Amino acid sequence: MNLILLGAPGAGKGTQAEVICAAKGIPAISTGNILREAVKNGTESGLKAKKYMDAGELVPDEVVIGILKDRISEPDCKDGFILDGFPRTVPQAEALESMGVRIDRVVEIYVPDEKIAKRLGGRRVCEACGNSYHVDYKPTKVEGVCDACGGRVVTRKDDEPATVLERLRVYHEKTAPLKDFYEARGKLKTVVGQEAVEDTTRLMLAALE
Ligand SMILES: [Zn+2]
Repeated sequence: MNLILLGAPGAGKGTQAEVICAAKGIPAISTGNILREAVKNGTESGLKAKKYMDAGELVPDEVVIGILKDRISEPDCKDGFILDGFPRTVPQAEALESMGVRIDRVVEIYVPDEKIAKRLGGRRVCEACGNSYHVDYKPTKVEGVCDACGGRVVTRKDDEPATVLERLRVYHEKTAPLKDFYEARGKLKTVVGQEAVEDTTRLMLAALE
């Protein structure tokens, strides 16, 4: 099954992608990773991409999709794949379709913005050892101090309230319209993200049946 996971930043796509990979025996493909790999390996599309990157320009969708097509023609994708982080816009989904990449199912993990803001806004990370915490779900024993190493525990720039709001705004403006795009093609299923990861996983696996 060729699958796309949709969801706002912080909705838990990464975790669910891992679970589905294990359950279905299909790889999760991140366009960021395969782009870097293609450039490193000097493939034809990789060299094209490199030209744009060296010029400090965005790699065009057609080039990214070319690299993606190379990747999904590899044997480990014979039973399908999960796309992680692509497409992010309707024009990218259109390009994917017109370049002949078949998508069977699109699962949206829906979590209301207020919950996402709480989840992401409460994340903390240790500056010294990288351990992660959450003020509500996994607090440090002493506020602001890492349990593991005594380092200072801080909020990442990505998780600061203004940044979270901006990431959510961009998601709603650019990425959420993909729901209508795939709904119109009869491919969209929505799973409501639950408090416990395993509960979301159960719903997710049901949505893939
Ligand atoms: Zn630490």
